[in-house]
Amino acid sequence: MINKDEISRTIKRYKPGKITIGTICSHSALQIFHGARQEGFKTVGICTADRRFVYEAFQLGKPDDYIIVDDYQDLIKERFQDELLRRNVVIIPHGSFVEYVGAENLKREFHVPMYGNRSALEFESDRRKMRAWLQEAGVKIPKEYPDPSKIDRPCIVKFHGARGGRGFFVVDSEKKYQEQIESGIKRGTIRDADLETATIQELIVGVRYYPQYFYSLMFQGEVKVRQGRVELLGIDRRVESNVDDLYRIPRPDNGAGTEPSYVVTGNIPVVLRESLLPTVLDLGRRVTEASVKLFPPGMVGPFCLETICTDNLEFVTFEVSVRIVAGTNLYPEGSPYSCYLFSKPMSTGRRMAREIKEGIRKKQLADLAS
Ligand code: AMP
Repeated sequence: MINKDEISRTIKRYKPGKITIGTICSHSALQIFHGARQEGFKTVGICTADRRFVYEAFQLGKPDDYIIVDDYQDLIKERFQDELLRRNVVIIPHGSFVEYVGAENLKREFHVPMYGNRSALEFESDRRKMRAWLQEAGVKIPKEYPDPSKIDRPCIVKFHGARGGRGFFVVDSEKKYQEQIESGIKRGTIRDADLETATIQELIVGVRYYPQYFYSLMFQGEVKVRQGRVELLGIDRRVESNVDDLYRIPRPDNGAGTEPSYVVTGNIPVVLRESLLPTVLDLGRRVTEASVKLFPPGMVGPFCLETICTDNLEFVTFEVSVRIVAGTNLYPEGSPYSCYLFSKPMSTGRRMAREIKEGIRKKQLADLAS
């Protein structure tokens, strides 16, 4: 694991007036560069040659400069890391950044300061640790079944890793579980190796909300955690193929052959009944408090909870993302929540830059990176 002290020493060597915000050109990079520019930072995009035109096509969202790589894993090579360090870069690790470079590489070999807390990677990638964390937070989570023979109600069977909901299925008995596994293997939607990562989880019936939060160490406010505050910056939900439009598709023979699938294809904005805000703010606060306890200083910066709200108005949380999520791309000019927190349009990309700026001003940037 890269030592936090090493990163703090690197940040001390950085020239405060030259701090540059960098990320891989993918996922939420347009928003990150746009927000950093709004806060007065220089930006650098790590990009493959064939993707550069996408960013050049958006002059307010493109980075000031590019580092061109053949493969994103090249970032681990000394010459690229040296280049980033020479440019005083603080990396914003979005979802694709972690996926392309690899969580293990980031934990062990990447010496460039990254915004946020690297220890969170471990809790995010290990399902057992994530569950223990949510339990510690005292929030409601779906029941899990270690063994298919215990299935006693409708369950969703999920596979982990970069599958994006592919191959997930719903069953209500061990027999149906085995049938689905066999047919998935035959059709190629499930591989043998997936069986080791299968989670059998109680199917929560309700509607999905993905609140996007920000844990600030630099600003104080009403939703307090230690010296900082938790902000609600926006809410989205994912558009998943084919489950979200399944009701529109004619399904002869009681739907045989058209099983639901949960592949994420996009995001749509949502707002909550205002009377549900106390619950959602409290959820964010609890999960943050528990993170501070389990991996201090906890989740630093943006995070998102994947929740389902039942018709009893109870929120069940089934996943945490400890970084900027793609759903924030809906709000480059701020959201129906961020506008009550900031007088300027505040995207999550800009919010991170604002926090970094405040960290530099208070000479506490080292607290925000690892
Ligand atoms: P995940 O990969 O865990 O983000 O799940 C992908 C999708 O599967 C979610 O967006 C939901 O539509 C669905 N899903 C996951 N877990 C559950 C659950 N416990 N109950 C109902 N739906 C779920």
